[in-house]
Amino acid sequence: MNRSEQAFQEAVKVMPGGVNSPVRAFKSVDMDPIFMEKGKGSKIYDIDGNEYIDYVLSWGPLILGHADNKVTEELTKAVMQGTSFGAPTELETKMAELVIERVPSIEMVRMVSSGTEATLAALRLARGFTGRNKILKFIGCYHGHSDSLLIKAGSGVATLGLPDSPGVPKGTAENTITVHYNDLESVKTAFEKFGDDIACIIVEPVAGNMGVVPPVEGFLQGLRDITTEYGALLIFDEVMTGFRVGYNCAQGYFNVMPDLTCLGKVIGGGLPVGAFGGRKEIMERIAPAGDIYQAGTLSGNPLAMTGGYYTLSQLTPESYEHFNQLGDQLEAGLKEVFAKHDVPITINRAGSMIGYFLNDRDVTDFEVASQSNLKLFAAMYKEMAANGIFLPPSQFEGMFLSTQHTSEDIEKTLDAFDKALNAVK
Ligand code: PMP
Repeated sequence: MNRSEQAFQEAVKVMPGGVNSPVRAFKSVDMDPIFMEKGKGSKIYDIDGNEYIDYVLSWGPLILGHADNKVTEELTKAVMQGTSFGAPTELETKMAELVIERVPSIEMVRMVSSGTEATLAALRLARGFTGRNKILKFIGCYHGHSDSLLIKAGSGVATLGLPDSPGVPKGTAENTITVHYNDLESVKTAFEKFGDDIACIIVEPVAGNMGVVPPVEGFLQGLRDITTEYGALLIFDEVMTGFRVGYNCAQGYFNVMPDLTCLGKVIGGGLPVGAFGGRKEIMERIAPAGDIYQAGTLSGNPLAMTGGYYTLSQLTPESYEHFNQLGDQLEAGLKEVFAKHDVPITINRAGSMIGYFLNDRDVTDFEVASQSNLKLFAAMYKEMAANGIFLPPSQFEGMFLSTQHTSEDIEKTLDAFDKALNAVK
């Protein structure tokens, strides 16, 4: 038994499923989890001493790769000064200014400690601001685990939702309307039915939780138009896409401006950070400036702000050229390798997010994504791990690149895909 297997045996005795977040249990690829010890640049190392090229990057945050020198140095200095004060610091203002400069629609921002917190606070704000109850979300988009957002489609799309988990009250679910991603018609139907009570649409501007699924031409603008028409707010959940799809986030890339934006992952550079922000007149409704309550003991703490500030400030427009170059190389290579083995593959990309589906159709929503060959995915996954490539352990999660990934990493990855396809045949 290797050390990871031993560690897992101990972990399951004291933590549900042996983990602190479900996807880490590797259930969808039918494996036990690999326990990690350290990372540097594009590489991660498990407790048995195996090295992997890492495309998980802590599920997105590590856009500069593991243990970036500058971030590590600044964090070390910050920790010596004390980890949290529960009083304002100047770094929080510097961080807010940087976020406002980088995210086109944000005029004012509030820091929180996770993506889940960012989306739940944004929903409360949208409901408080509009005085309405219902929200509209898309099937296959994930926005964290708060009650209103852990909802699946009801008896048909564009009807009221059903709880996706025991413990989510039916009454809460009924205030969430779910429709298909990239389907403006069903959004229109929902607004015709419930428009006077819909507070907001919340959407991942590039879906990243059904694999990577970009918006079709006109989809985001259509959402902008319909929310404006009905007096509802448009919320972009950029927890994953923020600073990944482009230097100015997905909203800058697609040039569609939401009323509110949720951020997480990259904004903390590997520390627990989230944020929500938007138009000043809306954000000023947040306490203590306004009457809508939101708070956090560790919100904006010096370590979190240091991780975020020195991550964001090292990203440049050139970083995104690097992602595009590596993305081109990976996409072309994957197509070649899979064609050689006569296995269908569909690739979707957005900046440093890359999704490959074992599927022969264009993947534009969750329904098509679900029709991918999940058995083959699981079989290949194990081979890829054995060949030193750490991929997200689910067909419904995309691969991430960091500024530290190299062309040589991509070549090694393509070689491993070739070997994996040979092995699973
Ligand atoms: N929104 C999106 C788009 C996400 O991808 C995630 C996490 N994967 C969340 C919200 C929730 O963030 P967190 O896990 O930090 O609570």
